[in-house]
Amino acid sequence: MRHRIAVIGGGPAGLTFARVLHRHDHPVAVFERDPGPDARPPGGTLDLHEGLGRLALEKAGLLAEFQELSRPEGQAMRILDTDGTVLRDWLPRPDDRANPEIDRGQLRDLLLGPLDVRWGRGVTQVVPGARDGVQVHFADGRQETFDLVVGADGAWSRVRPALSPVTPHYTGVTSIETSLDDVDTRHPDLARLIGDGSMAVYGVNRSLVAQRNSGGHVKVYTKFRAPLDRHPNLDLADVEAVRSSLLALFDGWAALVLDLLRQGTAFVHRPLYVLPVSHTWTHVPGVTLLGDAAHLMPPLGVGANLAMLEGAELAESIATAPGDLDGTVRAFEEQMWARAGKWAEITAAGLERLVSPDPTEALALFDEVQPS
Ligand SMILES: Cc1cc2nc3c(=O)[nH]c(=O)nc-3n(C[C@H](O)[C@H](O)[C@H](O)COP(=O)(O)OP(=O)(O)OC[C@H]3O[C@@H](n4cnc5c(N)ncnc54)[C@H](O)[C@@H]3O)c2cc1C
Repeated sequence: MRHRIAVIGGGPAGLTFARVLHRHDHPVAVFERDPGPDARPPGGTLDLHEGLGRLALEKAGLLAEFQELSRPEGQAMRILDTDGTVLRDWLPRPDDRANPEIDRGQLRDLLLGPLDVRWGRGVTQVVPGARDGVQVHFADGRQETFDLVVGADGAWSRVRPALSPVTPHYTGVTSIETSLDDVDTRHPDLARLIGDGSMAVYGVNRSLVAQRNSGGHVKVYTKFRAPLDRHPNLDLADVEAVRSSLLALFDGWAALVLDLLRQGTAFVHRPLYVLPVSHTWTHVPGVTLLGDAAHLMPPLGVGANLAMLEGAELAESIATAPGDLDGTVRAFEEQMWARAGKWAEITAAGLERLVSPDPTEALALFDEVQPS
């Protein structure tokens, strides 16, 4: 039986879902708002965990290609005090493949492979309950009807209102990120400071993390507590004004650490929003959610992993038990809610400790989760 299935969103959740269905020769329509794969910078690096993102890639038949592209050395993690003293310097063993890193753009291209994504097809609304299926309304005025519509359209999902009135709320923590290119040749001292993986510094209610991507690209993430309506009045187009605000905020930190901000190019402003822990909804036949659309969490290294695993699991269940589509989706939702609820609690508590009045909390968290 061939159901008419649409997935809205071509992020990690939507692409993994589509790729696993494709592997099982089940047709799926992928609708993505972006006009093309390179319409926006793809973002930073992701570590894919055993049993989560890596399991999803296995279900998609892509593990070998992932291993070719990924960077196990990127698991390295160094923590400095605000004065530059090295507090922890963790290096993976040569055979350690627990959480290898991959650039988001590489992961996207790997998942895209043969998929025929319909780019530039932003969805405005999903209406379940029609006699012939679920209606999808597009920004270009068109409408299409499907047996199942999967909302994988991220934090500000346009599918979610068909299931739940809940919207994301601000965590009280804002992130501003910047990036540097060719660090090994242009900024060798900063390249040494970061090492092969990540370098983090935790201060009072603020943090700075620098992460190496492939090709000498580095992303720098600052996080700090600020009320949403009193963000440093940031005109992000004025790069120098943002830089000055950040340098003032991190005043007194080691000069080399602050050089990451001095040398950073454009700045991206990300107030961190989340959905309530254990967000669920009353099941509606023909519509479901995956990934951030279902359970937006603080960015603590698990959101993309869960999104991918959910996509892979739902697709596999549909492909292997096609007779009872609604029962399959119901069972999937129960499983997703239980697992995502636990991670939402862990990441909410983690954010409190990583951007904390007591910076030793961040170090303690690292010691709890990092293998010795
Ligand atoms: C700075 C940062 C670092 C992170 N690091 C990690 C990490 O190391 N590991 C990890 O596991 N997670 C990480 N995360 C979290 C991770 O990025 C997300 O959880 C993950 O991207 C969620 O995937 P998704 O497919 O559900 O949503 P998204 O990645 O948001 O993808 C949604 C897609 O839907 C499209 N879309 C949106 N609206 C519409 C519409 N109306 N119609 C059609 N298409 C639409 C969007 O263009 C997008 O392509 C990080 C997040 C941030 C912000």
